[in-house]
This record gives sequence, C-alpha cells and structure tokens, in this order.
Amino acid sequence: MATDLRLPTDRIVRPDKDRFLDEENPFEAMMSRFDRAAELLDLEPGLYKVLRHPEKQITVSIPVMMDNGEVEVFIGHRVLYNTSRGPAKGGIRFDMNVSIEEVKALAAWMTWKCAVVNLPFGGAKGGVVCDPLKMSAGELERLTRRYTAGIIATLGPDSDVPAPDVNTNERVMAWVMDTYSMRMGHTVTAVVTGKPIEMGGSLGRREATGRGCMIVTKEALKHLGMSTQGTTVAVQGFGNVGSVAAQLLSREGCKIVAISDRTGGYYNKNGVDIDAAIKHVQRVRSLEGFTGGDQISNEELLESPVDVLLPAALENVITSKNAGKIKAKMICEGANGPTSAGADSILDEKGIFVVPDILANAGGVTVSYFEWVQDRGGYFWTEETVNNRLTEIMCNSFAAVLQLAKQHKVNMRTAAYMLSISRVATVHRLRGIYA
Ligand code: NAD
Repeated sequence: MATDLRLPTDRIVRPDKDRFLDEENPFEAMMSRFDRAAELLDLEPGLYKVLRHPEKQITVSIPVMMDNGEVEVFIGHRVLYNTSRGPAKGGIRFDMNVSIEEVKALAAWMTWKCAVVNLPFGGAKGGVVCDPLKMSAGELERLTRRYTAGIIATLGPDSDVPAPDVNTNERVMAWVMDTYSMRMGHTVTAVVTGKPIEMGGSLGRREATGRGCMIVTKEALKHLGMSTQGTTVAVQGFGNVGSVAAQLLSREGCKIVAISDRTGGYYNKNGVDIDAAIKHVQRVRSLEGFTGGDQISNEELLESPVDVLLPAALENVITSKNAGKIKAKMICEGANGPTSAGADSILDEKGIFVVPDILANAGGVTVSYFEWVQDRGGYFWTEETVNNRLTEIMCNSFAAVLQLAKQHKVNMRTAAYMLSISRVATVHRLRGIYA
C-alpha cells in the first residue's frame, strides 16, 4: 500500500497550553521523578549533577520565504540530553507551544525511555515554534530543510537521529533525510527514523507504540492475576497509539467499553466495535457522530468503572484533582506524561498498578531502533520478525522493571526511572570524565 504523505490536519495533540503549563513545569515535573529515583539509587553527587543537565542545546533562527513573498523567521531548538549510551534519539515537533524548557524535558524523557528498554541510544528532542496547519506544503518543506541545515552539525546516524513527533510525519522525515544526504553527498537513510517504507522505513513502525501498550498490558494483567478475556478497558485518544492499542487488546479478548478523542467519548457496556470505530475515523477523521456507544465526556471516561485505563492522548489528564476518582485497577500510560507527579501518590494509595509512560509507550522508539538497524545493515525484516523482536524487548523490560519494583518496594514508575538511571550511570562510570 502506498504511504500517505499528507500532514495530518487533526493532529494538534496539545491544544490547551495553559492546562499543561499551569499544572507543572515540564522539565521540573519529569526531574522530580528523576530525583526520587536518584536518591533511592544513592547516586553520587557528581553524576547527579551531570545527569541533571542536558549535554547540548542548540537554538536556531530559521528564515523562510513564505508563499506571499515575505520572509518569516521561526525559532527552532534541538536538545541532546545524554549520549553516553549511543546516538541521541528523539522526535521533532512543529507546534506553537514549543519552548526550550519543554524540549529539554522531552529530551531527558527520551534518555530514560531508551535506557529502560535497553536500546543503545541516548535521548534528544527537537522543536520549531510554528503553526504547521496554517502553512502550505512548500512553506513546511522550506522550514524543515532550513531547520535541518541549522542543526546539521549534530545530526548523523552515529550522533543524532530524529523521528516524527507532534505535527510532523513521514513526509517531514523524508525532507530531513534528503537535506542531510545532499549535504553529505550520498544517501544516508539511517539519519532519521519514521520514514516512508519505500525509502528505508520499517514494517510495523506505525503500529509499534500501540502494540507495545498491548504487550505490557497483558504482562501487567498476568502479574495482577487477571485474564485478558473479558477484562474491561477504557482508551482515551483514538489516534495512532489509542486506536491500535484498542484494536490489538480487543483481539486479545479484552472488552473495550469506552473510547474517546478530542470530540468526545463513547461508552458501550457490551464492548465497542473497534474495527467499526476505526472505519468511522478513517471516513470522518474523528469519532464525532459515532453510533456504537452512549456519549460520555473525556472526564467521565477517565473515571469510568473499568479494569484497565489507557490514556493515549495528552499530558496531565490524571492529576491530583481526579486521581482519587479513578476506578481502574491498572493504568497503561500510552501517552507521554498523562499523570502529573502530584497524582502518583494518590494512585499508589488506591493500589492502582501503573505501567509508566517511559516503559508503556517505548514500543515506538524500539521499532525506530529496528529501523535504524535495518537501514545500517541494508537488510529489511519481515513484519513478523519486527513484531516478535518487539514483544521480546517489551516483555523483558516489563519483567526487569517489575523485579526492581519488588526488590525496592517502590511503584513501577520509580522502578523504571531507577533502571534507566542506573544504566546511564553505569556507562558514565565506565567511560569516566573526558578532560
Ligand atoms: P495522534 O495525533 O495520532 O492521536 C491523538 C489522539 O488524541 C486523537 O484521537 C485526538 O483526537 C485525541 N485527543 C486530542 N485531544 C484530546 C482531548 N482533549 N481529549 C481526548 N482526546 C484527545 O497522536 P498519537 O501518536 O496517538 O500520540 C498520542 C500520545 O502518545 C501522545 O502523548 C504522544 O506523545 C504519545 N506517544 C506517541 C508515540 C507514537 O509512536 N505515535 C510514541 C510514544 C508516545
């Protein structure tokens, strides 16, 4: 099937800026979890200081000739948080709310995420302050190419490998890859992941994050002594992650009783027909007007009486305000940062088992790693091989985090941070400080 290269027009993942920023500073929110894990690991003060700072931050001005003949200047950032374990890995987002603080937080997040699933990558993130939905394809291409030129000194298969993120897609990655390749004088497919299949992308990448969520949810249910058969699930967000996770979980025997997107939610106690919902979204580009369940709000979905809650839309949807009302026995964090730091202790007190984002949604970066490996090897795997290797990595990572959680009597989030930080710290100790 030919790859759809259109920019998604329904992909403003974080429309409500104030809600996010009011809740917590993104870098400090993430680092509060880092601090707790570092304390439990008794991390030496020098290493603590090293890991609390990004390795490199680049900010570039990006002049773009707009279609009306006027020049606009955009601001772009790329942060390489830590590259001790390998090339930096992390997406590029185009969004009006991009800020250096947010890019720093997301780059640190990528460092811990790659380490928790033991990929030989460090963490990075990039972003350009722009509204891609108001720009033409030509303007976006010129913006992408000039941003790529601005950060080209850091890019490379051995140094910094971007991927799609909010409001960027396969097409944007193709422009990044082409710009880099033109500057190098030869084709370098492994400089980005999330590329179209036709030019070095990996089979299974599109479904990888949702598939990873399904795999860890099954592992968590096993740990909790629950069967997948008939287990009720509510999924917030019906995009790439949410729709795939819902479809795969329903194929495993779970009953998806609630789904939602930005237009609202739907509840059906007998189980929503996920294939029908996916067809509806393909037709109308949202769940609006779906008739397969009773309408509910996104708030009601989060608090609905289900076994599993799978937030797969936005940051900070489970906060100290609503955490006490959550009825699910377990939460699988498909989205990045759906739970605020303030909500963690409330969920703990209620005995809710949380598979944290850095583990739960690491399937995407894992298959990005597979893409990079395939590009470098020049040999491409079948979808079955990709899925089998993904399953192995997700199951092993879940088991390693669970074992640490039991050993230190901490929750899964703290254990996941402890595992990642200890892996990064070990490499720093072995490498020493270059002087
Ligand atoms: P997407 O744009 O494909 O889908 C987002 C979905 O969330 C859409 O259905 C949208 O309508 C819905 N949504 C938006 N605002 C909402 C609101 N206020 N209430 C309820 N639903 C709302 O995005 P995605 O790729 O599925 O990403 C979802 C989350 O998963 C994000 O946090 C993203 O950072 C994270 N994530 C994605 C990947 C990946 O590979 N796609 C990997 C890791 C993490």
